[in-house]
Amino acid sequence: MIPEAWRRRGSEVAVVGLGRSGIAATRLLASAGVRVYASDAAERPQHASGLRELGSLPGVQVDLGRHDLERIRRAGAVIVSPGVPPDAPPLATARAAAVPIVSELDLGFAALRGTGCIAVTGTNGKTTTTALAAHLLDAGGVRAAAAGNIGRPLADIALAGERYAWLAVEASSFQLHDSPHFAPDIGVLTNLAPDHLDRYPSVADYYADKRLLFRNATERAVWVLNADDPAVLELARGVQGRHLLFSLRGRADGWYDVASHALRLGDVELLPRHDLRLLGDHNVANALAATLAVHAVGVAPAHLAAGLRSFHALPHRLEPVREVQGVLWINDSKATNIASTMVAVAAMDRPFVLLLGGRHKGEPYTRLAPLLKERCRLVVAYGEAGPLVERDLGNAVPLERGTTFADVVARARRAARPGDTVLLSPACSSFDMFTDYEERGATFRALVERM
Ligand code: ADP
Repeated sequence: MIPEAWRRRGSEVAVVGLGRSGIAATRLLASAGVRVYASDAAERPQHASGLRELGSLPGVQVDLGRHDLERIRRAGAVIVSPGVPPDAPPLATARAAAVPIVSELDLGFAALRGTGCIAVTGTNGKTTTTALAAHLLDAGGVRAAAAGNIGRPLADIALAGERYAWLAVEASSFQLHDSPHFAPDIGVLTNLAPDHLDRYPSVADYYADKRLLFRNATERAVWVLNADDPAVLELARGVQGRHLLFSLRGRADGWYDVASHALRLGDVELLPRHDLRLLGDHNVANALAATLAVHAVGVAPAHLAAGLRSFHALPHRLEPVREVQGVLWINDSKATNIASTMVAVAAMDRPFVLLLGGRHKGEPYTRLAPLLKERCRLVVAYGEAGPLVERDLGNAVPLERGTTFADVVARARRAARPGDTVLLSPACSSFDMFTDYEERGATFRALVERM
C-alpha cells in the first residue's frame, strides 16, 4: 500500500488533521505496519473517542494541540485531511521539504484497488448525487456504498475489509488536489460556480483542482457531464474516455423532457417527474447525473426507475419534515449561502414563509428579492444577520425580526395559512446559535414535531 519512494524518504508517515478521515488513515497505515506520527492543532478535536484508541496502536504517536514541524519535515509522506488549509504550517513545511502530500481519499483508493468507483464532484449537489448513485446501485442489486466526503472515509471501508463491488465517492476539490493516484472508473461533474474563494486565490485555481478529476483518465473511463453548464463542458474538453451528458433543457443521454414531464435515458422514459420525490429542478439534474453513472455500471433502466422512485431527500436538504394543519414544513438547513437558498426558493410551488438568518457570510441578500416578490408571504429574519437581512429585503417583502429560534418558528406558524410551506433555508451559517447546520436542522425538526 505504501509506495517505495515514501519508505526511502523516511521511516514514518505523518497524518495532519485528526478528524474522521485522519483517524481512519492512521488506523489503515498502522494496520499495514507503517509507523505514524498523527497530529492536530486542536487540543481537543471532535472525535475524542476515536483518538483515544489511536494512541494505543503499535507504532502510532498522537500529538494534540501542536504539530512537530521538524518531524513532519523528515516524514516519508504527509496524509492530509480535507479540513486543513493548504497554507497551514505543517503543509507549508512539508512542501518546502518536498515531502509528498497525499489525501486520505488517495490512500483509501489505493487500498481499495479492485473496487469499482463512481466519483462525484462539482460545486453543488455532490452529496445528493453520491447518495443517489449508491441507492441506484443498490436498487440494481449491486453491492455498493457511499463514501468519501459524504461521511464514511475510504480508509475506513478498506480497514473494515468490507467487500463492495462499487463505491459512490464524494470528492471535494481540496481532496482532488492531493490525490495523484485517484482514477475513478466513472466520474460525475455536477456543475461549476465560483466557491471557496477564501481558500483559492482565484476561480481559475478552484476550477483547476476540479479538473484533477480527469488527471488519470483513460479510454475506458466514463465521464458524466452537465450539458447545461458551459464551464463543465469546457473543463472536460478533450479528456480521454466516453462523455455522457445530462440536461434539463433538451435531448441528451439523460434528460428532462419538458413536454412530457418525464426523465429519460435517450428515447427510454424512466419515470414521470412527479414520481421523483425530490423538490426542485436542481434535484432532477442530480437524479439524471446519478442515473447515467449507474447505467454505465450496467444497471437496467427498470431498476434505475425503481430506485429513483424510492429515494427520499437527504436530511437538511429540502427535506419535507411534516404537514401540520395544511402547512408543509421543509428543512433546508444545509443552505448556508445565497445560491443554495435561491435554488430552494425556486423549488417552491406554493406560497411560503421563509426563515432567513444566522451568521452572515458576506454576500448581500438583495439577490433574493426578485424571487420572493411573487409567493413569499413573510420573511422571518433572525440571528446575527437579522439586521442585514432586514436592510436588504425589508422594502421588498413583508418581514419580521425573530429572536430565539423557537420565536422564529412560532412567528412562521402564526403567519402560514393552509396550503402554504414554511421553508428553513437560512442562506447563512449556523454558528451564532448552533454548533452546525445539522443541529439547526434538528432543532427545527424537533419544534415542528412538537406542534
Ligand atoms: P454538496 O455536497 O455539493 O454541498 P448537496 O447535495 O449537499 O451538495 O446540496 C447542498 C445544497 O446545494 C442544496 O441544499 C441545494 O441548495 C444546492 N444544490 C444541490 N444540488 C444542486 C444542483 N444540481 N445545482 C445547484 N444547486 C444545487
